[in-house]
Amino acid sequence: MSDATPSTLRPLAEMQAEILDAMTVLPATAIAIEDCIGLVLAGDVIAAHDLPPFPNSAMDGYAVQAADVATVPVELTVLESVAAGSVPTRAVGPGTAIKIMTGAPMPDGADAIVKVEDTEPLDGAVRILAGVAAGEAVRRAGGDVVAGTTVLEAGGRIGPAHLGVLASLGVARPRVHARPVVGIMSTGDEVVPADTAGLGPGKIRDANRFLLRGLLDELGAVVVDLGIVSDDPADLRDALSRAAGEADVVVTSGGVSMGEYDVVKQVFAGVGDVAFHRVAMQPAKPLGFGSVDGKPFFGLPGNPVSVVVAFEQFLRPALLAMMGADRLFRPRVAGSLGETVHTDPAKAVFLRVGAGYEDDRWIARLSGGQSSNVLSALAAANAFAVVPVGTSTVNVGDPVTLEMFRWPETRTRTEVLHG
Ligand code: AMP
Ligand code: MG
Repeated sequence: MSDATPSTLRPLAEMQAEILDAMTVLPATAIAIEDCIGLVLAGDVIAAHDLPPFPNSAMDGYAVQAADVATVPVELTVLESVAAGSVPTRAVGPGTAIKIMTGAPMPDGADAIVKVEDTEPLDGAVRILAGVAAGEAVRRAGGDVVAGTTVLEAGGRIGPAHLGVLASLGVARPRVHARPVVGIMSTGDEVVPADTAGLGPGKIRDANRFLLRGLLDELGAVVVDLGIVSDDPADLRDALSRAAGEADVVVTSGGVSMGEYDVVKQVFAGVGDVAFHRVAMQPAKPLGFGSVDGKPFFGLPGNPVSVVVAFEQFLRPALLAMMGADRLFRPRVAGSLGETVHTDPAKAVFLRVGAGYEDDRWIARLSGGQSSNVLSALAAANAFAVVPVGTSTVNVGDPVTLEMFRWPETRTRTEVLHG
């Protein structure tokens, strides 16, 4: 691999394809269900039994024969009462009913439930006030999941509802792909730790490791933090080999552009395992990609907003691919811009916007300054408005694609109480 000629900008989609092509899926193991949230199933989950496993009542009420309550009111003898977790000992026949709680097994002979609200208790009997059709308020065995069917598919990420399905089917140790371990470091002689009290002249606090940590935590990756590395190539070489020893993926920020002290570029110059690209996108044009000691390597730019855009477009899909996921990209919605914006037609531009659903459509407004160092605008944004190559102006009201990276909560307590 060699450096792309400085004038060549690589199409974003081509860069993404090269990266995804190079990723291998991490091995699968069976792990405890409580540790599975966010991980990806390594195989289809086939239901070993019906859900519900047995026919049961959907209501507190009385198990009856529907034909028996066709004319109401009618009095039925109550044979017994069945709570959830116990089993009926009698069968329902004409003129009789069994009192039943939600989730208790249907007694033999009964084909419907009359809810308790439609009854009046009598001594040893019940007065039924409303008729029911056969099957009313009965949850069939297999009404949710039929034994033998594929209920969850390989490649899907496990969310809370999936945990519930797995638990219900007794899959206490699902087979999932491993969490990727990601080694991260910030480069730059100007970069100092976040807890530095007084900033020395020319110094800035390290934002990038925390941006990356946040993004990786959210994805379910394991972070190995190698700290801040100086612009001395020997320091970086040392940190890179430590990272590659411990992690599945190695990520740096800074030092990949056209400056004189771009340490990441210097270290890989002539080594051949990492190529430096200029991608037709803004922000995050420069990108180093290749491998360190056999581990995938991503050299992200230094500017914090570029770090996040590069993470979203390259690293996040790559990590999801390693995790075995079949869907790799954030959701996109069609919307429009609330203001006119001019962009560089040579690049796909990821505008930081606040996107909201107003009057049945998505509207996005710039969330602040659009330079790649302006973190405050990123913090105020929930989406990227993606302006494709070839477009130089997006007018107010023009359609635009919104890539949602955050779904913030809506409605304050005050709105709920007084709205
Ligand atoms: P570089 O590509 O190394 O020249 O960095 C580009 C810009 O990003 C410079 O203004 C750096 O000071 C800034 N930068 C680099 N690393 C960080 C970091 N970890 N946190 C905040 N800003 C950074
Ligand atoms: Mg630097």
